[in-house]
This record gives sequence, structure tokens and C-alpha cells, in this order.
Amino acid sequence: MDFELPEEARMLTDLVRRFVQDELMPLEPLILEREATGEHASLTEQELKPLYEKCKALGLWGLDVPEHLGGADVGLIAKLAVEEELAKTVTPFIFPPDSPNLHMMMAVADTDQRQRYLEPYARGETISAIAISEPNAGGDPAGMLTKAELRGDDWVINGRKIWISRIKSADFTIVMAVTDQEKRSRGGITAFLVDRDTPGMIIEREIKMLGGRRTYEVVFENCRVPSSQVLGKVGQGFAPMQLRLNTRRIEMGATALGMCQRALDMMIDHAKSRVTFGELLADRQAIQFWISDAATRMHALRLMVWDAAVKAERREEARNESSMIKYFATELATDVIDRAMQTHGAMGVTKELPLQLLWQNVRTMRVYEGPTEVHKWVIARRLLKER
Ligand SMILES: Cc1cc2nc3c(=O)[nH]c(=O)nc-3n(C[C@H](O)[C@H](O)[C@H](O)COP(=O)(O)OP(=O)(O)OC[C@H]3O[C@@H](n4cnc5c(N)ncnc54)[C@H](O)[C@@H]3O)c2cc1C
Repeated sequence: MDFELPEEARMLTDLVRRFVQDELMPLEPLILEREATGEHASLTEQELKPLYEKCKALGLWGLDVPEHLGGADVGLIAKLAVEEELAKTVTPFIFPPDSPNLHMMMAVADTDQRQRYLEPYARGETISAIAISEPNAGGDPAGMLTKAELRGDDWVINGRKIWISRIKSADFTIVMAVTDQEKRSRGGITAFLVDRDTPGMIIEREIKMLGGRRTYEVVFENCRVPSSQVLGKVGQGFAPMQLRLNTRRIEMGATALGMCQRALDMMIDHAKSRVTFGELLADRQAIQFWISDAATRMHALRLMVWDAAVKAERREEARNESSMIKYFATELATDVIDRAMQTHGAMGVTKELPLQLLWQNVRTMRVYEGPTEVHKWVIARRLLKER
């Protein structure tokens, strides 16, 4: 067992830390201002362009893309260290491409789909979304109602999806639909690649979420796609979707670590400078316990994340671990950020500090990729069944 980051990963992390410090942190006031005035708290394409150019020049591109697809293939442990650094700022930014969809596509795309979708996506030239959730089936995606029927050589999709991130700007969306009512999650749900502007895929409304984010409600009305757009095998969409979610949940552990570290640093800095009733906050046991509790639980989370990452790299089963990480990490970050806000008093609840935006972001993280309670239930269910 070795709990040190490999040398290459450490160098990459240092590079990303400097990128965050020099390029993303200065943009925080802009993002905070946008969120405070009700705008989308993100960077515009114009603002992203020079950042992407810098990333390319620094080699911060396609980090987990395999070398044969033109990427750097740094491995999951290094990628997680990168996620952690990026999460220290509230300026939303990812080094393209968005990896969870990448892994799902690498696992199941056929030769033609690799050329048309995977390769441009892996080069960071396209944006993708995934549409799983529905008004009556979110935490339990097996209950989805959207269906696809084979008519001639085309599949016709009908139904409704909700809470879909990025779909408005996505070049293509992976849409999950029922193709066999009897089998459903056991061989009856299929993944389809649906191009932007495909007739019958209608973005019905934009939904404002916490953290200045946006999601979308989308209707499929006789949306016709050729059979060549089936991603993977007919009826076998559920397993690769789960694979995508497992990777994402481990990454969320790293993201939560970065968010916690930012909040803890701010809490410590403030506690060391603020005097109340004649003493520094840093000398109060209440504050000291918050600091030690944060550091101890963050240490546990780091070990959990590394353990799951090593298992995932070895292609070992890590579903339980990724569920544990998902809920432990997001609940922990909620506590740490909240206590950092409390330590700052009134200043902590202003729209001027990034703490409240970190808090808003982690509040949404407790719901997506499976709510806390669902993960706890799944873990317990497995244990009860095994015994
Ligand atoms: C910011 C954001 C972005 C999102 N982006 C996407 C996206 O890009 N694509 C996509 O497909 N979806 C997306 N989602 C949807 C997300 O995956 C779902 O919201 C999530 O799976 C929960 O589903 P639900 O909202 O229907 O809640 P429900 O499933 O109705 O659950 C509601 C609550 O009930 C409780 N609960 C549910 N089941 C159990 C149980 N078995 N035991 C105990 N308690 C339970 C939990 O507290 C849960 O929070 C996004 C959501 C958010 C907030």
C-alpha cells in the first residue's frame, strides 16, 4: 500500500493548482456577481476560449482520454487530484471532455459511432448531455416511461425527460428509453445518441437551480433516430449507464474534498484573525472542534476515494464504495462549508464570499447522481441480502 500520489500526478496537480490560482480564481467575482443577479453562473464561450487555449498549451486537455484517441491518459488517481484542485474555486470549469460520458461511450460505441461521436468528443470539440431522469423517475431510473419503438429501420422515441444539464448547448445527448416493457432495467432499457436539432426532441423549458445552474425539461414527440444511433446493444443501456454513474460518484468524492479544503482554509484564516469577547475565534474550542472534525473526516474521505479509484483502475467491482463516497462526501462538504459560513458570521452569508455558492453547489450535489438516502438504502439492502 502506498498513500503517496505518483510523481507525475503530483506534477500535474501543481500545474492545475497554478492554473486555478492564476486563471480561475480572478474570475470568481464575475461568477459571484452573475449568481447574485440571477444570471447563469457560468463563463461565456468568449470567456472560455482563451482559457481553453491556455489549457491546450499547458497540456491540460483530454486528461483521461486514451493515447490512441489523442489524449494524455493520466489515469484515474491523477484525474481525481485534478478534480479536487478545480473544485477549490466557484468558477465552473472542466478540462474537456466531460469524462463520465466519455467512459460510457468508450465502453460501448461501435466503429462508426467512434468516428462520428467519440473521437471529436474526446478531442474536446463537442459537448454532450445525458437524459435519464423523468418527472416520475429520478432516483429510480428503472421506472422511466420514455419509450422507443422500432418502426422499419428507425427507432421512434416518445416521452419526457427533466433536470437535464447542458442539453441546450450539447451537440448530442445520450437518451435512455424503454425498449422492452417487461424486462425494463434487466435488458429492456436502451441508450440512443440523439443529435442536437433532431426533429421531435423539444426543449420545453429552462429550470433555474441553486448555484446559478440551469437544467432543462425536454419532450420527445415521435423523435425518429436510425438504428445506427443505438449506443451499445438494444436493451443493454442500463449497465453502461451505471458504469458512468460509478465513475462520476468517485469523482464527486474528489470534488467534495476540494470544496471542503477551500472552506476549511477560509475558516482557519478567519478564525486566526477575528477577535470576539477579547479572544481569537481560533482559541475557542467550538471552532477548534469544527476544524479538527473537518480535517479528520476529509482524511477518511481521501482514503475512501483512493481505495475506490485503485479498485476501479483494476476493473474490480466498486459500486458499494462509490455509493459510500457519494453520500459521505456530499454530506461532509455540506457540514464543513456550513461551519465555515458560521465562523464568518454575517459575512459568511453574503453573496460576496464564495462560501454560499460552494454551499449552493453542494446542496444540489446531494440530489444528483443519486440522493443520499437512496445510496444509504442501496448499501444497507446489499448488506442485508448478503447476510
Ligand atoms: C443540478 C442537477 C442536475 C441534474 N442533471 C441531470 C442530468 O444531466 N441528467 C439526468 O438524467 N438527470 C439529472 N438530474 C436529476 C437527478 O439525477 C435526480 O434529481 C435524482 O436522481 C433524484 O431524482 P428525483 O429528483 O426524481 O427525486 P426522487 O427520486 O423523487 O427522490 C426524492 C427524495 O426521496 C428520497 N428517496 C427516494 N428514494 C428513496 C429510497 N429508496 N429510500 C429512502 N429515501 C428515498 C430522497 O431523499 C430523495 O431526495 C439533475 C439533478 C440536479 C439537481
